[in-house]
Amino acid sequence: MNTNNTTILYVEDEENVREMLSRFLKRFCKELYVAQDGAEGLELYKKHRPDIVISDIRMPKMNGLEMVKAIKAIDVSQLILLLSAHSDSEFLYEAINLAVDGYILKPIDLDMVNEKLKNLLNRIQNRKAAQKLKESEKKLKLLSQAIEQMEEMVRITDVKGNIIYVNPASVKHTQFSQDESLGQNNRIFKSGVHQKEFYDNLWKSILGGNTYQNILINKKKDGSLYYDEKIISPLKDENGNINYFVSTGRDITERIALEKQLKKLATKDTLTGIYNRYKINTIIEDEIKRAKRYGEIFSLIMLDIDNFKKVNDTYGHDTGDYVLQEISRVVLGTIRKTDSFGRWGGEEFILVAPHTNKDEALELAQKIRKNIEKHLFEYVKQITVSIGVTQYTTNEESTTLIKRVDNALYEAKANGRNQVAFL
Ligand code: GH3
Ligand code: MG
Ligand code: MG
Repeated sequence: MNTNNTTILYVEDEENVREMLSRFLKRFCKELYVAQDGAEGLELYKKHRPDIVISDIRMPKMNGLEMVKAIKAIDVSQLILLLSAHSDSEFLYEAINLAVDGYILKPIDLDMVNEKLKNLLNRIQNRKAAQKLKESEKKLKLLSQAIEQMEEMVRITDVKGNIIYVNPASVKHTQFSQDESLGQNNRIFKSGVHQKEFYDNLWKSILGGNTYQNILINKKKDGSLYYDEKIISPLKDENGNINYFVSTGRDITERIALEKQLKKLATKDTLTGIYNRYKINTIIEDEIKRAKRYGEIFSLIMLDIDNFKKVNDTYGHDTGDYVLQEISRVVLGTIRKTDSFGRWGGEEFILVAPHTNKDEALELAQKIRKNIEKHLFEYVKQITVSIGVTQYTTNEESTTLIKRVDNALYEAKANGRNQVAFL
């Protein structure tokens, strides 16, 4: 029996008995407090609150029964053993009423003390275990309450992805009720948007014991898709085996939509500071409207860096970025204020030139080409570009216009690069 943590208060006025029993009691406890009368016993009790009180009855100052009464007033469940001689019979009736946990008759039989103490120690252990259980039950209740009330979707699956638990937030967001999800496979949320490798990666990670974090596009019961910001963690047992996965998820569809909208509202390319593709598109649409309404003319110029891949491969990506920025500067220094210049993608740029016909556009394109050709770039020294040019033709839409300038650029490339072509 584990007596390591038990504390005992022993109260006895007879010195011989006290010394003999003290020695014996020490074996049963971590700490033994010894008092010589009831008053001192009560003091020590208040100070140390021992697990067990063992007390003589007939003592000076305060007798054992008075002390026990005072102790019971403090803690009615206090474990108490009384030692009594036959001559204490006058106290017996009162002692019974005090409902102590046992009597040992004097002269003291140590076997009897041993047995009674073991009994009490057992009770202490049971009490402590019960207390612990109550606390862990309380903790468990709190935990489940927290998960039930969490904003995040929480799901627990087995290692095959079969659903064992879904919290109310999961039910709310996925529209699959508890009954509809429990026992089903997690696949019911699959959107079909992600490739097989995407899920392979996910499984590889969590089966390998790692936490997986990503944004998944998942499907609700009504078939609509949502962005699910997910964290999936393997739950390991005491031997380190993975038996379950727990996932939290947050429906961030609104946030993603907002981000997309913000991205669209941004008009500048972050690397070069010139217009981005979205802005250039709206500028082209505006020009087309003007052309349709007022018969105005305009031209498009598209340029693409020659052998740019080699720049990246030879000098590194940072130098490649620098070249993109430098080319933007050169072009901005060449064109008019009314021209709009933007990055179409990668190393392709586009220029919208209002009130500009074929000949003027070709002239501008050559000027740009030459300025770039003669510009001294750090490290790389010389860079050349190929340029496609086209003029807007009456009533056409942006798609055919852009396709044509792209074809012109392709022709300039095919003809040997560092040149301008018109279509
Ligand atoms: P071509 O003369 O036929 O145009 O050949 P190219 O090498 O210029 O064209 P390709 O399309 O083969 O390669 C374009 C390269 O541009 C590949 C890509 O890594 C690089 N690139 C695209 N965007 C960026 C960027 O923002 N920064 C850097 N450093 N490189 C980029
Ligand atoms: Mg190129
Ligand atoms: Mg290209």
